[in-house]
Amino acid sequence: MDETISRRSLLDAIASDPSSTDELEILVKKVYAQYLGNLKGELADYIPELAKVAPDQFGIALGLPSGRVVSVGDANAEFTIQSISKAYTYTMLLDLIGADETLKVVGVQPSGDPFNTISLDARTNRPLNPMVNTGAIAVAGKLLELLGKEAFDKILDTFSQAAGRRLSFDQKVFESERDTGHRNRAIGHLLRAAHVYEAPVDDVLDIYFKQCSILVTAADLAVMGATTANLGVNPRTKQRVFGLDPVRQALSVMFTCGMYDGAGDWACKVGLPAKSGVGGGILAVVNRQIGIGVFSPRLDASGNSVRGQLSCAKLAEDLGLHAFDALNHGSSFLRGLL
Ligand code: GLN
Repeated sequence: MDETISRRSLLDAIASDPSSTDELEILVKKVYAQYLGNLKGELADYIPELAKVAPDQFGIALGLPSGRVVSVGDANAEFTIQSISKAYTYTMLLDLIGADETLKVVGVQPSGDPFNTISLDARTNRPLNPMVNTGAIAVAGKLLELLGKEAFDKILDTFSQAAGRRLSFDQKVFESERDTGHRNRAIGHLLRAAHVYEAPVDDVLDIYFKQCSILVTAADLAVMGATTANLGVNPRTKQRVFGLDPVRQALSVMFTCGMYDGAGDWACKVGLPAKSGVGGGILAVVNRQIGIGVFSPRLDASGNSVRGQLSCAKLAEDLGLHAFDALNHGSSFLRGLL
């Protein structure tokens, strides 16, 4: 117990003196070393271009409130963001039309199903939540209707602002998924038939496949996560990227739905809002504190990075980050009471 308090105080110490990151760097390096040899899991080969990725890359990055990034391993290697994009296009839609209108497009209920399940909520005829493919394609359709031809450019601009650097997208991965993504195309038509959007299905899917092909690094994910943690303001550039209410809503849905059919286990073990992608990335958010980005492309059966999950769980344990860890929130206040 005492140990958790002192580990937690590491983050408190960094908050008061942003240059004191040495201890944190040591801790992150230890987590990296612990899992470096774990080569379990497989690449996502259902998108042919993803099967060509070097499988054993591994990087961890933490984005701190000062804007500093503490990183180790392949934290600057680029990979496609894939489903992590869903959390940020959802935040964009919330910013544009608010929570009530967004609920007419997509719900907020965990599905407990794999990410590519083809089904709608029987009561609403809308996707259950925006973190699975049905929901994310619905969000892409709505963004297309609202933003027109510029929709993808706006998505790329917003993601770049959240990451604090100009991002690009991988044309080959985009084309590879566009040419083989028949299941997502089926979802696109299902949503069109349900009048979730009236836009042409191919145009909606082009946006969805492109947003999934945006190239990021673990360090970018850490800064994007830190932007969310910092209530929508990028701690590096100080630019406000998202509003307060959209951030709150997106974090709530990431907490309950971000890890697909593994979401419940994740909530109990790690206790952080997070989003994974089949490119091998995981982004986790410690509300009002830090963003975590991990990249390791070998995936488990749910499509979540094996080493990404292990690293997040270990960091959460070592730093006392679980949202309901009795000893973490306002730790100095609690310490005074103990
Ligand atoms: N582009 C991928 C797909 O739609 C994203 C899936 C994921 O990252 N889980 O299948």
